Amino acid sequence: MEKITEAINRTKAYYCVECGKCTSACPLSRFGDYSPDRVVERALIGLPVRPDLSVWSCLTCGRCKEICTYGVDYPEFIRRVRSIARDEREQGICAHGELFSVMRLLARPSAPPQKRLYWISKDLKVRDKGDILYFTGCLPYFDIVFRDLGLHTVEIARSTVKILNKLDVEPVVMNDEVCCGHDLFWNGDIEPFKRLGALNIQHIKSRGARKVIFSCPEGYRTFKLDYPEFFEFDFELLHISEFLAERIEEGTVDFRTIDAPVTYHDPCRLGRHLGIYDPPRRVLSAIAPNFVEMASNRENSLCCGTSGWTNCDSFAEEIRGERLKEGVETGAQIMITTCPKCLIHFTCHMSNRPREYNLKIVPFEVFVARAMGLEETTE
Ligand code: SF4
Ligand code: SF4
Ligand code: SF4
Repeated sequence: MEKITEAINRTKAYYCVECGKCTSACPLSRFGDYSPDRVVERALIGLPVRPDLSVWSCLTCGRCKEICTYGVDYPEFIRRVRSIARDEREQGICAHGELFSVMRLLARPSAPPQKRLYWISKDLKVRDKGDILYFTGCLPYFDIVFRDLGLHTVEIARSTVKILNKLDVEPVVMNDEVCCGHDLFWNGDIEPFKRLGALNIQHIKSRGARKVIFSCPEGYRTFKLDYPEFFEFDFELLHISEFLAERIEEGTVDFRTIDAPVTYHDPCRLGRHLGIYDPPRRVLSAIAPNFVEMASNRENSLCCGTSGWTNCDSFAEEIRGERLKEGVETGAQIMITTCPKCLIHFTCHMSNRPREYNLKIVPFEVFVARAMGLEETTE
């Protein structure tokens, strides 16, 4: 109970009692019986966390935090409660347990060596040491696990390196990079998260990097907001969209125009968690004159429906379907996203409903690389 009280106090969740103003904004509440204030009330009166599945259902998408006038950090409250629940050996229902096993395995000192750079081909210029490092995240793992969906997530990494090369950057990439630990952290599994973080910081320092570029919003969020709580480091952190937006500002990047109408899905980690809405739009607007916003965008963006591979259920599918319909309603046939997981969840949803959506989900980096003449184009 003491730890729950601390979670409530640290996140100001006591304001939630008898409030519930954000319930109508919560994507879960639209399709199921979910109410943030009720979860806090149960915790406050000492009801056990364990049977309360809503602790694991929350998408930590931050829509509630965005509209809360009391400054309650509800996603952080949920993360802390999950950590308490994990101490009691409870966990949510994981859709892809093998990914968690790999993350925990990588955190062990006895972890076998990885082959995470298999996607580096001769045309890509990369280094082992240098100023600018590209943190590839879990793309090589997703590439294998989700290949049945027709996805080749390492193309995101390949496109990112091609873009950087074109802009005269030969990034450092690391075979000993490990998962950033985002999913373990948000599922309350703190010890392996800390071990993974320590390894990443140690390896990046050993390469002499002063700037780390991310394509994955979750990795970026983890380094920017969570690692500083546990580790000391002073490298600059940047999302590839920010890097590109800077280059557009300087006038040092050229794109060919892509006339097809495109829309953009804000991933919650890049958008609401980090407040990065403009840089991807600056880049897309420079490429696509027919860029069109979805009805819900920026701070109000809808969620892809699943976070940390947990509780992918019928409500999650409804949330995904709602977002994809918004995309279709724009008239665009291409929805760009900067998040590999949004790409995976949306593609998975559509693969089970092949006739329902006339929409293609395209990774931001792949789209940009096409506009720079670095990838074959289908638009
Ligand atoms: S997060 Fe804010 S708006 Fe939502 S129930 Fe709590 S106090 Fe109310
Ligand atoms: S973080 Fe998202 S899913 Fe969780 S309560 Fe807030 S709005 Fe609902
Ligand atoms: S939607 Fe995402 S979490 Fe759910 S089964 Fe598909 S890939 Fe897994």
